[in-house]
Amino acid sequence: MTKQILIIGGGVAGTIVANGLCRQIGPELASGAVAITMLSASDKHMYQPGLLYLPFGKIRESELYRDQRKVLDKRVAFFVDPATNIDVKAKSVTTQSGKKHSYDYLVIATGSRIRPDTIPGMEEGAHWFYDLEGARKMRDALNNFKGGKIVVNVNAPHKCPVAPLEIVFMLREYLAAKGIENTEITYTYPIGRLHALEPVANWAGPEFQRYGIKSEVFFNTKSVDPKKKTITSEEGVTLPYDLLVTIPPHSGQQVIMDSKLGDGGWVPTNKQTLLREGSDDVFIVGDTTNIPISKAGSTAHFEADTIVDNLASLIKEQQWSRNYDGKVFCFLETGMTTGTYVWFNYVTPPNPAPPSQAIHWFKLGYNRLYWLSARGLL
Ligand SMILES: Cc1cc2nc3c(=O)[nH]c(=O)nc-3n(C[C@H](O)[C@H](O)[C@H](O)COP(=O)(O)OP(=O)(O)OC[C@H]3O[C@@H](n4cnc5c(N)ncnc54)[C@H](O)[C@@H]3O)c2cc1C
Repeated sequence: MTKQILIIGGGVAGTIVANGLCRQIGPELASGAVAITMLSASDKHMYQPGLLYLPFGKIRESELYRDQRKVLDKRVAFFVDPATNIDVKAKSVTTQSGKKHSYDYLVIATGSRIRPDTIPGMEEGAHWFYDLEGARKMRDALNNFKGGKIVVNVNAPHKCPVAPLEIVFMLREYLAAKGIENTEITYTYPIGRLHALEPVANWAGPEFQRYGIKSEVFFNTKSVDPKKKTITSEEGVTLPYDLLVTIPPHSGQQVIMDSKLGDGGWVPTNKQTLLREGSDDVFIVGDTTNIPISKAGSTAHFEADTIVDNLASLIKEQQWSRNYDGKVFCFLETGMTTGTYVWFNYVTPPNPAPPSQAIHWFKLGYNRLYWLSARGLL
């Protein structure tokens, strides 16, 4: 009997699992002992970190996408047919077209989605760069911006831990380069410091001071008033804005909620094995997990590598290979021409390196190398 590995989601995590497995279990795929199937919601694969550059005209839209079929190893059966129900007891997944896929091993990699709709007034009053449509609108708003108050409003949970800081530093330099000096930037954050990762918050404080960036912490967004151009927090603070840039709150996908696999669409996951709590044949990877670590492409990548090793070991040697150590690596743009990076894991806290042009160029280089990484070549 062919062992069926079913992967739901064709983003960073699902793709790296699929391609990595093909490299490790080639003989089993060739003999028909194992088959890999991927279900996704789109025939395109988006490099989401590239969205950061779109509002500033620093990347072309076509650079953000590849055809998912071309990124995937040919040995993976690929269907654009979103999962609508996941039944972990029956070991079966139902799709939008009504098909049922049974599996021996399931990998859930459905990612997260932005939810500006959950905060009154946010969709009408705010700009964001977390999806293509939003990034396009923000580019147009920046083109027309003549100066005034900018509020960069951060909501949780959200993916990419450092993008909110990056957008602040990039906005500052972009506007200065355009000669728009009469601008005040205020950054809001939901907890009592500038960043969830304490060392990053400690690093950002002096940077904000140096550049005159204001901040409002303990700011949990209650509502946006697009007519008055104000944003108000649950804590009772109201800030006026001329341009509101938000990192909207995120949730997991509807299929996770509908299948009752986790509150908010986040699946309870063992932070070391990456197995769904209560399952020994369902792996969770990328943004979809509920593990206490940043939701990031690099997290997805390192988790996916762990799952590839474990699935390959289970198939070839009937044993476990290794646990995930919580590794995350993120580049952080500190302006239009400089950057730094942070790496950390469950036991080692981040320690931002001094910003440099070299790190910025390395990040730009990785933006292109990503496609090799997704194919499992890097
Ligand atoms: C502006 C921005 C900047 C970022 N910058 C960085 C950065 O610098 N560094 C970094 O590490 N990370 C960054 N990230 C975060 C990173 O892109 C995500 O954390 C990463 O894409 C998560 O990978 P994933 O595979 O879990 O989800 P995704 O890549 O989002 O993939 C989810 C996949 O699931 C599919 N799907 C959804 N629903 C279904 C369904 N019902 N059935 C089947 N398939 C489904 C989707 O079509 C998609 O293919 C950034 C993100 C943004 C938006």
